[in-house]
Amino acid sequence: MMKDHLIKALAHQGNIRLMAVNTKESVNHLVTLFDLYPTSAAALGRFISIGYLMGGLLKAKEESISATLKGSNEIKQLVMVATSEGTIKATISHPHVTMVHPVTGKLDVGGAIGEGTLSVVKNLGLKHNFASTVDLTTSEIGDDFTTYFATSEQIPTAISVGVLVNEDGSVASAGALMIQLMPGHDEADIQMVEHVIENLKPISTILLEEPSVENLVLALFEDTQILETKDVSYACDCSYDRMRKGLSLIDMVDLKDIIREDQEAHIECQFCRKEYHFSLEDLIEIKKEKESVHEYRLN
Ligand SMILES: [Zn+2]
Repeated sequence: MMKDHLIKALAHQGNIRLMAVNTKESVNHLVTLFDLYPTSAAALGRFISIGYLMGGLLKAKEESISATLKGSNEIKQLVMVATSEGTIKATISHPHVTMVHPVTGKLDVGGAIGEGTLSVVKNLGLKHNFASTVDLTTSEIGDDFTTYFATSEQIPTAISVGVLVNEDGSVASAGALMIQLMPGHDEADIQMVEHVIENLKPISTILLEEPSVENLVLALFEDTQILETKDVSYACDCSYDRMRKGLSLIDMVDLKDIIREDQEAHIECQFCRKEYHFSLEDLIEIKKEKESVHEYRLN
């Protein structure tokens, strides 16, 4: 799979933080992986585009951030996990949604999600994770993350995110741009950012014409200073052991049912669709382990 690119930069004497990512390759990968229909593709594509940016905000190795968006309409749930290393994995509960807004004629992500919540959990390798949930505002995803940053992190943030889907369902362009005001910013910085945002074309249009995120951030402010560019990509970290652990957590009653009726188990990873097979012997071994843990607790 080809890599996407993420860029980090500063402007206005460090008072403005910029981050941008081109996610066309990742979103096209997801379209194929989950057979995404256009509105599902736009929703999950926007979600992971911002996910990459959130991963980019993490500092140390091993850190990760996960987000879950729950909605009341057809797209029930989006989940993603992004790492500080520039990888992401994601899943969607309903991949086959095509909903077009009756007035604008555009893909109706907000309508397909409906009302709901956005939960973010930061795993910073400490004992406690930082978790926070906000109500969705427009359910267009970009606005909802803006709300998250304003209420949960108290960082004034502007986010532009977009996915342009071709007639054939593939993705023509996708990406996200984040502009944040850093502590110590003044009125001039605020006005500058507002001016830039007012004149900004949709990000999917910008990236369709010019896929370089470097050129994108350089064009935004006169004194843009690039800090880092890195490759980012979709990657799953599932393994046989992890799946086995998941299987061992199901209820004993259910496990016994599987042993009696199916005599084997096929478990598909929800993030990469890789299938893991557990034979009857594997299942009996897992059952024995569960029983011994149970006996140990009773003693
Ligand atoms: Zn996987």
